Amino acid sequence: MKAGLLKETEDEITTLLSDLIRINTTNPPGNETQAAKYLAETLGKEGFKCEILESAPGRGNVITRLKGTGEKPSLLLLSHLDVVAANPKEWSVDPFSGLVKDGFVWGRGAIDMKSMTAMEVMVMKLLKRNNVKLKGDVILAATADEEKGGEYGAGWLVRNYLEKVRADYVINEGGGQAVPMDGKNVFTIQTAEKGILWFKVKAKGRPGHGSVPSAADNAILRMNRVVERLGNYRAPMVLTPTVKQFLAVMAEENAEAKQALNILLQNPNRGDEILDMLAQKDKAMAEQFRAMLRMTIAPTIIYGGVKENIIPSECEAVFDCRILPGQNTDEALDHIKMLLRDVDLEKLEFEIIQANEPSESPLDTPLYGLMVETLKEFEPNCTVAPILLTGGTDSRFFRKLGAACYGFQPALSDLPYDEILKMVHGIDERISIKNLVFGTSVLYNVVKHFLT
Ligand SMILES: [Zn+2]
Repeated sequence: MKAGLLKETEDEITTLLSDLIRINTTNPPGNETQAAKYLAETLGKEGFKCEILESAPGRGNVITRLKGTGEKPSLLLLSHLDVVAANPKEWSVDPFSGLVKDGFVWGRGAIDMKSMTAMEVMVMKLLKRNNVKLKGDVILAATADEEKGGEYGAGWLVRNYLEKVRADYVINEGGGQAVPMDGKNVFTIQTAEKGILWFKVKAKGRPGHGSVPSAADNAILRMNRVVERLGNYRAPMVLTPTVKQFLAVMAEENAEAKQALNILLQNPNRGDEILDMLAQKDKAMAEQFRAMLRMTIAPTIIYGGVKENIIPSECEAVFDCRILPGQNTDEALDHIKMLLRDVDLEKLEFEIIQANEPSESPLDTPLYGLMVETLKEFEPNCTVAPILLTGGTDSRFFRKLGAACYGFQPALSDLPYDEILKMVHGIDERISIKNLVFGTSVLYNVVKHFLT
């Protein structure tokens, strides 16, 4: 039976999102306190007691809680209030107008992720309005600074106010979008994300005159070998539980790719061969899969040299390395040094810029099962697949604490998928009012059934 859409929330959720978009929380600088205050006010009108916790002036995080009896686990509804910059010249509407036009709410944050904030706030209000008898606590936290790493937001809350945000389960961004495939909707749930190892390598040499190159030891040439070696490295492919399940669903739902993906699932060593083949049909998809299957290393910055005729004694490069769940940043760095063992390791210096460990949550929890079940109530013919993000979200702070975290921002596909991808951190970001109602309805049903 099809579960009912909460059509009556349409105006309220639209206004909530529109208002949130109008509060410019571009990070940097963030200024999330204004948005936090707005949420505290709207929730306050319905009797919620909210706390605004500032990690720095203007960097507000807002938290509130509905108490349960304690018979069931606790659940945190997480979102971030900050957004990335938007250049009004590139947009067809003012990115901070929150304009409602053609059935869509337009503006920076409409997808990433003020819409989810609005939905989570709406869910809290509905639980209270409907006087739902909760057996587990539900906590709402809308935080600062996710787009710059969360050190003033989720990371700061976990370090300083753990008891206020700790929960057994977390629902956050990173999945939930339906992708149409062979006439069916495939919804994703983010269950894993890669870890980050940003590091700098300094190659040393001996300076000299550019007119007698062989008398010097050119640091640029040394770095050239480092870049070549790391940039072209293809780490072994590993099937993490999430990606294994994800590819199995893709194989089932995508007739064209079925055979190829089944070979890959049987034998990940043949991954590159299979993905090279898939790339001829759908390059974007194949490369996305490739990044989900291995550690990657990309050189992203390089500098060295000061003058046309001086052979430099130093050259520096920065690398963006992403590792899979099950791997860790220490071992990754050791592995990288091993790859460079014949590039005069003693003339290379390494510096870690940032290291975040990868994270993965189990697929066999009651909450995961309930999310799948609820989606099928709304869309009986849909399929659901777990997904690993090659990027990162604030979920990592909570997975580290042992919470099961799921990226679940339920949305039907009413725009082409590649267009949605382009809108996130891109131009003309918008969400349909239909999807605001759909997302709220799915989330409300999930939370209500999970906690009663
Ligand atoms: Zn986001």
